[in-house]
Amino acid sequence: MSSPATLDKLVALCKRRGFVFPSAEIYGGLNGVYDFGPMGVLLKENIRAAWRRSMNSLKYEVLYLEGALLGPHAMWQASGHVENFHDPMVDCLNCKKRYRADDIDLEKPCPHCGKKEWTEVKQFNMMFKTELGASSASSTIAYLRPETAQAIFVNFKNIISTCRVKIPFGIGQVGKAFRNEITPKQFLFRMREFEQMELEFFCKPENADEFFKYWLTVRQEFYSKLGINMDRIRMRPHEAHELAHYSKQCTDVEYEYPFGWKELEGIAHRGSFDLDQHMKYSGKDLSVYDDETKEAFVPNVIECSVGADRLFLTVLFDAYQEDTIDGEERIVLNLSPAMAPIKAAFLPLTKKLNEPVIALHKKIAQATGFSIVFDDSGSIGKRYRRQDEIGTPVCFTYDFDSEQDNKVTVRDRTTTKQERIPIDNIERYLRDLVTKE
Ligand code: ATP
Repeated sequence: MSSPATLDKLVALCKRRGFVFPSAEIYGGLNGVYDFGPMGVLLKENIRAAWRRSMNSLKYEVLYLEGALLGPHAMWQASGHVENFHDPMVDCLNCKKRYRADDIDLEKPCPHCGKKEWTEVKQFNMMFKTELGASSASSTIAYLRPETAQAIFVNFKNIISTCRVKIPFGIGQVGKAFRNEITPKQFLFRMREFEQMELEFFCKPENADEFFKYWLTVRQEFYSKLGINMDRIRMRPHEAHELAHYSKQCTDVEYEYPFGWKELEGIAHRGSFDLDQHMKYSGKDLSVYDDETKEAFVPNVIECSVGADRLFLTVLFDAYQEDTIDGEERIVLNLSPAMAPIKAAFLPLTKKLNEPVIALHKKIAQATGFSIVFDDSGSIGKRYRRQDEIGTPVCFTYDFDSEQDNKVTVRDRTTTKQERIPIDNIERYLRDLVTKE
C-alpha cells in the first residue's frame, strides 16, 4: 500500500505537534540541525529503548559504551577518516549553488539555474575539525566524531579486560555523530548533527561470514517487531565498487521513502581493519588470546549501524495515514503502542467532570510510570484528533454515566471503535497494550 505521507506533510506535523523544530529557529535556524520537542524526545527514547531491547534479547552478550564526542587526530588518522572521509563537491559558477557531485549529472546543466558552468570536482572532508586549548601555539587538533564506532574499537581492550567477557560478543553505543554534509536535506534523513545506534560485534575470523548472515536476519526481525511495514523494507547487498575502505561485505537495510529507496541501516563485515589500524598507529596490542588454540588473534567485526533520527523519520513515515471519520478528514499516526510518545489520554466529557478524571490520571500515571496525559480543552472530537495526530493508541473518556457504573469509554485510535471498561481494569488494560510486541 502506498503511503499518503510526503516530506512536507511530515515536516509540518512534526512542527505542529512538538516533535521536531528547526534548531534555533528564532535566529533563522541552522541548516541540517534540529531540536527535538516534547513529543520528539519521547519518541526518540522509545526508539533507543527498542534498539537496546533487541540487542539484549539475543544469545550473545552485548555491553554498552558511551564514548567522548571529541577525538584526537591520531585516532581519526588510524581509522582512515582523515584521508578517506570525503564526499565529492562541485559548485555552479553561475548561481553559486553547491552540490554533491555524485548527486547530479555533470553532463547536464545546473538544475537550479539551467547553465552548465561547473567548477572542478573537489574532495571535501566531512569531519568537523576544532582546536583544544587557549592559545594556538599549544593547541591540539581534535575532531567531532563522524561515527560512534571508533570509540568502541579504541576501548575494546579496556572492556575485554574489565568486564570478563568472551568472544563472540558485542559492544553497542548510542550517541551523537557529526558530519559536515555538503547538502543536508530531506529533513532528518541527512543532518549535520545526528545520533547513531551502533553495534560492533567481535568474533573469530573464521566465523565472521556466518555472523554477518546472522546479523542480517536479526536486524530484519528488529524492523518487523517495530511494526514497520515490511513491504517497504529491503536488503541491498553492496556491489564491490560501493564498498567503503574498511569493508569486506556490506548490506544496506533500505526503506522506501517518498523520495525513493534509501539506506536506513548499514550492516558491514569490517574484518579486522579497525583493530589492525589502531594497533599499528597506537603501538598497543589489541589481540585476544584463544584458550582453545593457545594463540592470540585479532577479532573480526560485524557492524550494524542505524541513525536514530533516520529511524525516527522512518517510523513516522510508516505510521502516517489520512482517512475520513464521520465525514471529517483526519491525520493519524498508527504507531505501535511501544513507539507512541503518549500511551493514553484521559478526557472528561465536560469540565464539570474534571475532578475525578484528574485523580484517575494521576493514579494511573503513578502506578504505571507511562507517559499519559489529561486533556479537557475543546470538544471531545477535537481532543481525539489531537491525540490521533501524535499517535496516542487509546483515549479514556469519563462521562456522566461513569459516576454511576464506574466505567469509562475506551476509544481505539486506529479503528475509532469504542467500548466501555471498568475503571478498575484501566491499569491492566494499559500495561497489556504497551508491553505487547
Ligand atoms: P549515506 O550513504 O546515507 O550518507 P552512509 O553510508 O554514509 O549513509 P554510514 O556511515 O553507514 O552512513 O552511517 C550509518 C547510519 O547512520 C546510516 O545508515 C544512517 O542511518 C545514519 N546516518 C549517516 N549519515 C547521516 C546523516 N547525515 N544524517 C542522519 N543519519 C545519518
